[in-house]
Amino acid sequence: MGKEALLALVNNAALLITFVVLYTVFYVKSTTSRQIPRQIISGFLLGMVTVGVMLNSWQLSPGVVFDTRSVALGLIGLFFGFIPSMISASMAVGLRILMGGEGTIPGISTILSSVSVGLIWQHHKRRDSCDRSLLELYLFGIVVHVFMLLCMLLLPSQSRETFFEIAALPVMIVYPAATMIVGWAMTGQIARKRGEAAESELASTSERLAVIVKNSPVAIISLDLDYKVTSWNEAAEEIFGWKCSEVLGKPLPYILETQKEDYERMNVETLKGLPVRGERFAQRTKDGREIIIKVYNAPIRDENGNLEGIFGILEDVTEQHKAELALKESELRFRKLYMNMNIGVAIYRVINEGDDVVFLDMNPSGCRITGVNREEILGRSVKAIFPSVVELGLYQRLIEVWKTSRPMHHPVRRYKDERIDFWADNYIYPDRSNEVVAIFEDVTQRELMLEELERRVKNRTEELEAANKELESFAYSVSHDLRAPLRAINGFSKIISDRYMSSLPEEGQRYLGFISKAGGDMSDLIDGLLEYSRIGRSSIHLNELPLKSIVDDCIATLNRRIEEEGAEVSIITDLPTVYANQSLLKRAVTNLLQNALTYHNVGSRPIVKISSKHHKGWVFLTIEDNGIGIEDRYHERIFNVFQRLHTDEEFPGTGIGLSIVKKSVLLMGGDVSLESIPGKGSKFTLKIKGV
Ligand code: ADP
Repeated sequence: MGKEALLALVNNAALLITFVVLYTVFYVKSTTSRQIPRQIISGFLLGMVTVGVMLNSWQLSPGVVFDTRSVALGLIGLFFGFIPSMISASMAVGLRILMGGEGTIPGISTILSSVSVGLIWQHHKRRDSCDRSLLELYLFGIVVHVFMLLCMLLLPSQSRETFFEIAALPVMIVYPAATMIVGWAMTGQIARKRGEAAESELASTSERLAVIVKNSPVAIISLDLDYKVTSWNEAAEEIFGWKCSEVLGKPLPYILETQKEDYERMNVETLKGLPVRGERFAQRTKDGREIIIKVYNAPIRDENGNLEGIFGILEDVTEQHKAELALKESELRFRKLYMNMNIGVAIYRVINEGDDVVFLDMNPSGCRITGVNREEILGRSVKAIFPSVVELGLYQRLIEVWKTSRPMHHPVRRYKDERIDFWADNYIYPDRSNEVVAIFEDVTQRELMLEELERRVKNRTEELEAANKELESFAYSVSHDLRAPLRAINGFSKIISDRYMSSLPEEGQRYLGFISKAGGDMSDLIDGLLEYSRIGRSSIHLNELPLKSIVDDCIATLNRRIEEEGAEVSIITDLPTVYANQSLLKRAVTNLLQNALTYHNVGSRPIVKISSKHHKGWVFLTIEDNGIGIEDRYHERIFNVFQRLHTDEEFPGTGIGLSIVKKSVLLMGGDVSLESIPGKGSKFTLKIKGV
């Protein structure tokens, strides 16, 4: 090999070194090595280096030049990928065509075969570039250059002979080695870069870890194999109260004498490789407070796997512990209540979209009331256990509550099947999405008592009604029978008075006057009683009646009294049509008008106002006077028979009028009420059915 060839080879080698630089810049350091623009730029730069390599060639014979393009293009194919390979190969081919000569074809073939072998090798052995061994790179170099030798067969015969004589052997010795060295340098770059990255990753990870440990809200501590503290973070200081400086190198400060054994056991277990997860301990802090901590322990090992100590995370769960205790207590309380209450509770689950309802649970009272065994009903259909629930409507109610999610009351019903018979009052409410709860009470005793009471009341009422009827008919017949003798007494006293008055001494005349008066009063009383007991004896028919004409009629009958009293009676509102019995209504209105004309202050003239109001299907007819009024305490009493508030001397009367009013309106389905201010007047209101 001549001096010139050696110089060219050195230049070639120097240029090949630039590959390492380019590879480092574009592929190792860059995180965007796969981007197209970067690949194009690197392709051009590589192409330029290849061109440089080709310009530093040495001439074997005229038109036949040699350089390390095969090394360059093989490595480009192997390390840089398709786009840079294509660009640099094209530039090399272009230059080789420009250079011309008889070696053009083999030269171009070498370019194409080298880059192809590189690309195929890379594609075939798709793996990380840093994994390539020296042997692999050397083998690769040999393959590339075997192809190169094959390309040289295309040289014209003379040059071919010269080449195989002089250059083939050195080429096969030097070029694969060069390929291996440059390739190895590139591989080394990747490995170095990876190492750096791993180191910096490790550094930032431990920095991050330190920050996490420092700011962690839970205590993080570590112990050596003698259980002495080797680290104690800020949260540990805060939770336990001891500063890091106070505890480092010392045993854990918070372990109580009584807990030593437990801790010992836990530490031994941890070191044995049985990590402790969430064990709870009651601990005392530096200032003597009792706290509950939850411990997570794990062993610490060095890189060789030897035990170094214990790593512990301690969480202050005092509040959570208290809340859990309270919850447990309240659950226990409710459980006790559920088990001991005297009321039945059944929990059901609705299944198959409402096709069936099964028992989830029933408390002891529920089982007692319904006569079942809890175990035998769990999970079974309600319809199967209590066939009558459907007929009773309870089953539908359960489904309704499940559908609407609204609580419902299923009122007292008698449950009866072949096995049991009881009365129950059910409250049903939705629990979870498919669960419904029924609370039921056995009210059998109460219902039986009510039934008995009702029966007794009915009997008593019937007895009373019969007695009342008897009394009424007795009063009627007595009054009726008394009428004839009374008529005789009154008739004969009148005859005596008419014919013999003048022949009687003065005293006799006075006595006769008493007899006549008493006879008259008794006659009024008997008429009143007869009227009272006659009311309701015959059946009552209600008709639509114009209230106005009824009231007008009543006023007309009392015209003489009105004139005598100098009274003023007026109707001050419209009076509608009512649904009533004419004779009863007339009786009631006339009696009220009579009283209004009677009970007025001496010397003042009665002013009577009649009005009406319509409300919710009822007509309220009011007769208001400006009379003496009635004290509140008599408002009920005066509607009873013979109840009078005045002597006959003050105001004459029988005490039957208002009882007739009351009986009449009650018989028509209405009522009578009173408002009054003593000394100012009274307001009687009749409640009559409207039309
Ligand atoms: P009588 O009028 O025959 O005494 P009632 O049954 O009609 O019987 O009345 C009972 C009592 O109610 C009367 O004695 C009277 O004291 C009182 N009373 C009835 N209407 C009025 C009224 N408009 N003003 C004041 N007191 C009345």
